[in-house]
Amino acid sequence: MQRKTQQRETIQAVLTDAARPLTVHEILERAAKQVPSLGIATVYRCVKAMIESRDVIVVEIVGEPLRYETAHLEHHHHFVCESCKKVFDVQGCIPIASLVPQGFKMRAHEIVLYGVCASCG
Ligand SMILES: [Zn+2]
Ligand SMILES: [Zn+2]
Repeated sequence: MQRKTQQRETIQAVLTDAARPLTVHEILERAAKQVPSLGIATVYRCVKAMIESRDVIVVEIVGEPLRYETAHLEHHHHFVCESCKKVFDVQGCIPIASLVPQGFKMRAHEIVLYGVCASCG
């Protein structure tokens, strides 16, 4: 019980500190610095539970492994660095309503930017 709570809190902290969506491997790499006994199966299990409790959401980008971010963020989008393969948060949005065909009602939208990040560029 105590251990479970610590594992979840560590993963939550890792996701908050990262300020960008992480794969399970990235989560494990960072979380293991604080909880060396942590394994990949435990990270998967914790993340799944955190999705169910709505603390974490899945970031799904075509052709990319699933990534996870904290669910308590403002509306934002993602930038994929094609060099280092990291995915970054992009703050804000653009006026998108003009793209919606006449008579259509938009429910949601996704924008993914691709390119090279500042460290790789
Ligand atoms: Zn990069
Ligand atoms: Zn948007």
